[in-house]
Amino acid sequence: MSFELPALPYAHDALEPHIDARTMEIHHGKHHAGYTSKLNAAIEGSDLEGKSIEAILGNLDMNNGAVRNNGGGYYNHRLFWEVMSPNGGGEPTGELASAINDAYGSYDAFKDAFSNAAKTQFGSGWAWLCVHPGGKVEVCSTPNQDNPLMPGVTCGGTPILGLDVWEHAYYLNYQNRRPDYVEAFFNIINWDKVAENYAGNK
Ligand code: MN
Repeated sequence: MSFELPALPYAHDALEPHIDARTMEIHHGKHHAGYTSKLNAAIEGSDLEGKSIEAILGNLDMNNGAVRNNGGGYYNHRLFWEVMSPNGGGEPTGELASAINDAYGSYDAFKDAFSNAAKTQFGSGWAWLCVHPGGKVEVCSTPNQDNPLMPGVTCGGTPILGLDVWEHAYYLNYQNRRPDYVEAFFNIINWDKVAENYAGNK
């Protein structure tokens, strides 16, 4: 069994004006599709075939560039689409809000930490909110298609919110203005889904 490109949970133009339809079409239909097909090619016939993506990344040989880049790309984008919604924005509630307050003191302080991680990741990469066993949350960033499930990568834990800061994610609409894209992202975060990810991985 091979990995399949997941369908977007909303229309290409649903996240406008924060993320434009053309960017979504290319990002999902070309970039994510490419990572998915290259991941399948990289694991075909190997002992990784048939394993879950979490198991593949959690036990990854970091020298295996094809699986590191394309397995990361497959997983990271799958999460990214799910944690955005045209009905998103606002602030987290419930136990997730409590965990964020415990770690950062307030939603605004968390927002600053996450935004800084996204804005200061040099070159291509991702900003993350992760949960550790026991429920503590932590912000970090990774280069390229790495993510915190991979051995030895930054904060560790399980990503529950991710923001793609590769130029392909924002350049058509924002050009070099990554900070504007990062700010816009907060208007479309699907906090209900992030809370579900938190509850399922704490
Ligand atoms: Mn991307």
